[in-house]
Amino acid sequence: MTSTQFSRISAIALGLSILGACLPTTFASSAVTNAIKPLPQDGKMHIYLCGTGVPVVYMQYIRKPSCLAVIADDQFLLFDAGEGAIQTISEMGLPYTRIYNVFMTHWHSDHFAGLGQVSNVSWTDGRNKPMNVYGPYGVKHVIDSLAAAYQLDTLFRSINSADTLDPTLSTPVPHLIDAIAKDQRVYKNHDITITAFEVDHAPVYPALGYQIQYKGCHVTLSGDTKVIPKELNEAQNADVFVSEALNVKQTMVLANEQKAAGNLTKYQIYQEIPNYHSDTIKLAQLAQQANVKHLVLTHLDPPYIPGQKAENAFIEGMAAYYKGPIIAAKDRDEIVLTPQADGSCQFEYRG
Ligand SMILES: [Zn+2]
Ligand SMILES: [Zn+2]
Repeated sequence: MTSTQFSRISAIALGLSILGACLPTTFASSAVTNAIKPLPQDGKMHIYLCGTGVPVVYMQYIRKPSCLAVIADDQFLLFDAGEGAIQTISEMGLPYTRIYNVFMTHWHSDHFAGLGQVSNVSWTDGRNKPMNVYGPYGVKHVIDSLAAAYQLDTLFRSINSADTLDPTLSTPVPHLIDAIAKDQRVYKNHDITITAFEVDHAPVYPALGYQIQYKGCHVTLSGDTKVIPKELNEAQNADVFVSEALNVKQTMVLANEQKAAGNLTKYQIYQEIPNYHSDTIKLAQLAQQANVKHLVLTHLDPPYIPGQKAENAFIEGMAAYYKGPIIAAKDRDEIVLTPQADGSCQFEYRG
């Protein structure tokens, strides 16, 4: 950037800040502030479903794409950041300026399209430590690209708030996870341990799931995958298995509707979806075999308008194979896991 360009940008930034200072005070007095809660300090693990939907854009007013937040042990960990992640997290009152570690499952846009905003907004609103992003191959490319896309924004905002915003914190630090040959422990901090494992979401390669261990509580996250035997080990005796879920029967109805309408491109897309997502029936069978204690469904496909009838239709047939509780998650639901003295883990669902 030339010095002329820099002074022009500085002049614009100065003008904007003067304009801001000149706004009538009535604007400020009617402003809505968001109540952000502190990190809970109760010795429990809190799991917040901040995005339980899929890429179908016209249904995202009901469910935003992938986002799951874990708060425990004075740490705020985020798993995937689909579009709208930061809005949902902030609407839930979660202290997003404390997100220092993000774990990505794979590089489909419904899992990372909100990552830039998570990083940017947490930075402008006060995050004062680097944000680490752990992910499979591609993580450096995506983070470098985000840094390039946000370069001017970083510059403009740093000029506006030279005393408070450190431009070096505006974009994340990438960390490559290599979990192809064997599971990889990617994070250990006090009582939280996170292990990544490879799943099968071909043609997406690699794609990851995660295990989270916390004081005897075991949570497994499937990421996006078809049901594979490997999940038997990964979810074995899990207190909670949060898995993506695809109702194949409903998907085939949609496929045939598209075929009847002559839309063969859409027909083909619907036909292929079961090849790389988790069939609800196979998932129920696996959860039973793995002795999963609670099965929580996310990434619900096809999306539906909430209601008991629609939910029953989505999980139809699963109870014949899995005898534990099946919960179709909604955005803003919360799971609370309380470690017990005997090493077990108490489960509570707040829908
Ligand atoms: Zn995917
Ligand atoms: Zn997805």
